[in-house]
Amino acid sequence: MPQSHDTVLEVDLGALAHNYRLLRSRLLPETRFLGVVKAYAYGSDSLAIAKKLESLGADYLAVAFTDEGVFLREGGIRLPILVLHPQPSGLGDLITHCLEPSLYSPRILRLFLQEAKARKQKDFPVHLKFNTGLNRLGFWENDVDWIQGQLDTGNTLSIRSVLSHLAASDDLGEAEFTRRQIDGFTRIVGEVREKLPGSPFFHLLNTSGIFNYPDAQWDMVRSGIGLYGYGNDQEYDKLLRPVARLRTRISQLHKIEPGEWVGYNKGFESPGYRTTATLPIGHADGIGRIYGKGRGIFHLHGKPAPIIGNVCMDMTMIDVTDIPCREGDEVVVYGGPHSAEVLARGAGTISYELLTGISRRVAREIRDES
Ligand SMILES: *Cc1c(COP(=O)(O)O)cnc(C)c1O
Repeated sequence: MPQSHDTVLEVDLGALAHNYRLLRSRLLPETRFLGVVKAYAYGSDSLAIAKKLESLGADYLAVAFTDEGVFLREGGIRLPILVLHPQPSGLGDLITHCLEPSLYSPRILRLFLQEAKARKQKDFPVHLKFNTGLNRLGFWENDVDWIQGQLDTGNTLSIRSVLSHLAASDDLGEAEFTRRQIDGFTRIVGEVREKLPGSPFFHLLNTSGIFNYPDAQWDMVRSGIGLYGYGNDQEYDKLLRPVARLRTRISQLHKIEPGEWVGYNKGFESPGYRTTATLPIGHADGIGRIYGKGRGIFHLHGKPAPIIGNVCMDMTMIDVTDIPCREGDEVVVYGGPHSAEVLARGAGTISYELLTGISRRVAREIRDES
């Protein structure tokens, strides 16, 4: 798609390399590293990120859905790719593109076994996901016997790994709950070793798990947000570098008189003489309405400029009264010193949502100075 608007998402692969090495340095040298590149690599550019992770020496990649993995295969990615949440409709595609499913329920295991048998697969690598308290996806601990029964009928599938996912690894106030999840996973590891064929490897930790529970790293970790530069904690954020920087430019400046209104539905009433800047970025680009009325703050020449009124579909207005500027000047939405986490928090959400919401109409500019 031709990119014709002044809003650009810069993707800094040097920052990615820094974050990868930083995260790896917190792990044992033999622990494998899976880079999570779902949701277009957290809204950045999944192919560019996957290529860089491949060259940095990552062991695995993960996506949420089959199509995301197919896109990476078609882009030439050779690393093993775990599909975290395969759906019944894409299982054939998954096999033909050598993607590896996380099997999370009796239904999806049966369907996948059927599909793999129909395609005469032998030892097709699969991963088993167990629920240890997140209560989102996964087999229960007492499903191991049932799984054993299913897999006994030939060698169509081979269990490559066994995983679970922590619900609150970022919240040390929930350490006791997390420890119970870790204990639950430890029991599952024991049962799997005893009852299931092959010698799968085990993994539990996401980014915050790497920082807060490194003793539970088992054979591999799965990191997403940390690779992109955010650690769910101010101290960890300082160690990481944001990969994405979202910038735009002032389309037009307006001088507003006291009592005038700005934007749809009179979202802002000017209390005095004000200068406003209109930017070519709106909720169709990924800046939700929730950021309106001062909850979101952008930066112009390093100074904070709050959003005024309602965010429109293709435009946003900010207050630049006290910042000398001209039409065409650059405005930073987030990135560099201006944390996406801070912007997101101002609107009551989290960096994950803000980052993954940047739409495809925003041009990506890939930089690699590593
Ligand atoms: C998204 C996801 C991750 C990555 O989590 P981060 O907090 O971004 O590191 C890891 N594991 C699973 C199962 C996920 O769905």
